[in-house]
Amino acid sequence: MDQSNKNRVSKPAAAERDKKISKLMTMMLRHAPEEFGLRLAPEDGSCELSELLAAVRLRTGCEQMTEEEIRGVVRRSDKQRFEILEPQNLAEAGAAATAGAEKPGEERSEHPGAAEAQEGFAAGDAAPRIRARYGHSFGKLTYPQGTPPETLYHGTHLQALPSIQEHGLLPMGREYVHLSAETHFAALAGRRRGRLAMLRIDTAAASRAGVVFYDAGSGVWLAERVPADVLTADGAQESDIQGGSAMKASEGSKHPNADRRTIDIGINLMHRSFGSDREQVVETAAEAGVTRLILTGTSVRGSEAAAAYAARYPGRLYATAGVHPHDAKSCGESTLRSLRELAAGDSVVAIGECGLDYNRDFSPREVQREWFAKQIGLAAELALPLFLHERDAHTDFAELLREHRPKDLSAVVHCFTGSEEELRTYLEMGLHIGITGWICDERRSGALRELVRLIPPNRLMIETDTPFLTPRDLRPKPKDGRNEPAFLPHIAAAVAECTGRSTEEIMRQTTETARTFFRI
Ligand SMILES: [Zn+2]
Repeated sequence: MDQSNKNRVSKPAAAERDKKISKLMTMMLRHAPEEFGLRLAPEDGSCELSELLAAVRLRTGCEQMTEEEIRGVVRRSDKQRFEILEPQNLAEAGAAATAGAEKPGEERSEHPGAAEAQEGFAAGDAAPRIRARYGHSFGKLTYPQGTPPETLYHGTHLQALPSIQEHGLLPMGREYVHLSAETHFAALAGRRRGRLAMLRIDTAAASRAGVVFYDAGSGVWLAERVPADVLTADGAQESDIQGGSAMKASEGSKHPNADRRTIDIGINLMHRSFGSDREQVVETAAEAGVTRLILTGTSVRGSEAAAAYAARYPGRLYATAGVHPHDAKSCGESTLRSLRELAAGDSVVAIGECGLDYNRDFSPREVQREWFAKQIGLAAELALPLFLHERDAHTDFAELLREHRPKDLSAVVHCFTGSEEELRTYLEMGLHIGITGWICDERRSGALRELVRLIPPNRLMIETDTPFLTPRDLRPKPKDGRNEPAFLPHIAAAVAECTGRSTEEIMRQTTETARTFFRI
């Protein structure tokens, strides 16, 4: 729109226009950045304000639009949808990250996030950046900003510690990290049962790094995220904490591909085809850089087996607990109770595999729907992410999710092979997408190879679905045609080819996304 007319625009018209631009910016920054030619920084989902402005101009045809107008939209956004990162804060965040990376005794490769921040915010390319805030309902936050006490605390499960030391504290299923002014609050706030580690947050350093603290009253404070370098693991169970980092160090030295460490989010390791060499499969995967595996539970018994096996490899193997739609007909009175008990174990990180499969119809459709809805409810109750399966059931599947899933509950549609329209619906619903070796088959996967570009990096994860879906173009072909988690980098390479990014980048981004998603 024309600058000279700006002041004459009536209030309602201006509000209407704000709303339109805000909606467009949401599409650009949250849902389909690549479609608008935006490349969001993987570490914080931001892009340069000037880049966004150019994209908005192009899309709206408003050549005259200024940066100040975008800033106005951000300021007036009633739901605080966006955040502008000023160069001053960015430079300090970069400096803090550099300082963190240089702590004695710490390998820089252990802190990929910090290294990125350093590169991204190098002196000279300091320009304001903008990002969408996490969570649709950030605006519900009515707490005042304030000056927090010098130190805040956060109680956390010991198992989460290595990941927190690498990536900082991220919101878990909700929009904020909960922090406490006193240690006993922190202990109460520790989400998962069992042994806790206490984290101490240097709030002055955090504020310098751009963290905003909100005072929720009664000594509870909220933040969107807290970077790793202002955190110290403190207090209780020092030996366990050291044990945690020792485990991490040995994991690093043991595997030649440690710098390519990645996560297979879906493997059926308890499948009978692994009966004789299960341990070897785990080791071979680790040697290929696939150091963390999430075992898919598909029935109560299968989930129990997966959780028990994963518990033998803490910090490396995890499991989901759920009932596949094929098995829905076997569900009964005790199913939810069993899954709930399983989910209380340390190795279980998600509810699923659950969903709908109208391709095979191994269970009656209404039974599938009933148990899908119940498992969504269970995930919501436990604040655990969902691992979802859908074949030829898109409409009912989306409808049940809309009806039963709280908007902020993370969910991944695993082994996505659907249409563009289906993909767009899932992305709009805020779902994550899992891509398997299906994408390696040029004959079967034509559409998918195009579609994978539409998935924002922070929503894309990769999986082998072992022992199924062996990539067709794998050479040499594996014996018995059995798929293994060690082939995950091959899938990453196919995704890289389809998206025009490098394999390294795909492995790094999907790993980061999986860690955030499963909180590992
Ligand atoms: Zn599946």
